[in-house]
Amino acid sequence: MATFKGFAMKKLNETGWVEKEVPECGPLDAIVRPTCVSPCTSDIHTVWEGAIGDRKDMVLGHEAVGIVEEVGSLVKNIKVGDKVIVPAITPDWDDEAAQRGYPSQTTEPLGGWKFSNFKDGVFGERFHVNLADANLALMPEGLSDEAAVMLVDMWSTGMMGSENANIPLGGSVLVIGIGAVGLSAIAGAALLGAADIYAAGTRPVSVKIAKEYGATEIINYREAPIDEQVREATNGAGVDSVIIAGGNLTNTWKEAVASTKAGGTISNVNYLSGADDVLIPRVEWGCGMSNINITNGLCPGGRVRMERLSRLALTNRADPELLVTHRFKGLEKIEDALYLMKDKPKDLIKPIVKID
Ligand code: NAD
Ligand code: ZN
Repeated sequence: MATFKGFAMKKLNETGWVEKEVPECGPLDAIVRPTCVSPCTSDIHTVWEGAIGDRKDMVLGHEAVGIVEEVGSLVKNIKVGDKVIVPAITPDWDDEAAQRGYPSQTTEPLGGWKFSNFKDGVFGERFHVNLADANLALMPEGLSDEAAVMLVDMWSTGMMGSENANIPLGGSVLVIGIGAVGLSAIAGAALLGAADIYAAGTRPVSVKIAKEYGATEIINYREAPIDEQVREATNGAGVDSVIIAGGNLTNTWKEAVASTKAGGTISNVNYLSGADDVLIPRVEWGCGMSNINITNGLCPGGRVRMERLSRLALTNRADPELLVTHRFKGLEKIEDALYLMKDKPKDLIKPIVKID
């Protein structure tokens, strides 16, 4: 039986290398060898915060591009040897939640998130992809591995944050948290026609990219509550839309609600952890009658989403490679990259690992 090596969550708070059997490729599926991967903040929530519960010897990682090694007998458009973009989310497209318009929630809540959640992820020599025709996109000419690996989760999630935020053309947006996801939300907000984009963050490396992606004003959340600064900057009006892509359960939701105009939208993409309840401030929410709506979602996956995000990169609407701050080479460096993501040095946005 063929085996592969992968970097895994051995149990809560413990990682390590494991040797596993290469998974069987079903008739509609594919087996892929990664050529470039990137760790996600969600991998950190998974291992060290127990956010999805305990997992035993589960290979981590859900951001990859790679080469197809094997395809099932019913796969039509993907062939062995193809270079592919692998979405972080690989839905069951025939499930009823997909038919209701929520493919990321297929079979159960968050069920489209399979890699490093329900099954082995992409931090190994091989990984399995369900429904290859629907869930793999061919790597287009002119897109680098580094750029493509930023699309599969960071851009897809961040831009979903802006798509869910009901941003009016010429409207105003506040993005709270400007790591890779928040920065992608800024790029999305600019593309969707926001005029004023307030970015709440402090690290110089993020602030620089925020401005390049379209932020018009930076708010230092350490100096004063975000809502106070937003109200001041908008002559008391507040903003049309708030995208939450960072922060905590103590301050952030209060600041978001208090920054939003009546009739505005708060769009959450943050992976909530650290407390059991989300507290919505009653008065700032107009006693529940202010028409401030709250939306949320899991990263969209699938082939078409990847093709569209690739087109945004290839037509120079924004540059995904700006998010890559640290580069490693070789499968064994995945461990260093994950721990770098855990330690979050000030100059880090996203590390990538190239694998040959
Ligand atoms: P990140 O840690 O790089 O970014 C979060 C940023 O928020 C950091 O720069 C941090 O300094 C900043 N921050 C901390 N406290 C703050 C505060 N009080 N106010 C404002 N900013 C504050 O993380 P990321 O990789 O950009 O991901 C953001 C979140 O999105 C994570 O929770 C991640 O797990 C989640 N995520 C969700 C999905 C999804 O499908 N919804 C997909 C990927 C990631
Ligand atoms: Zn992720």
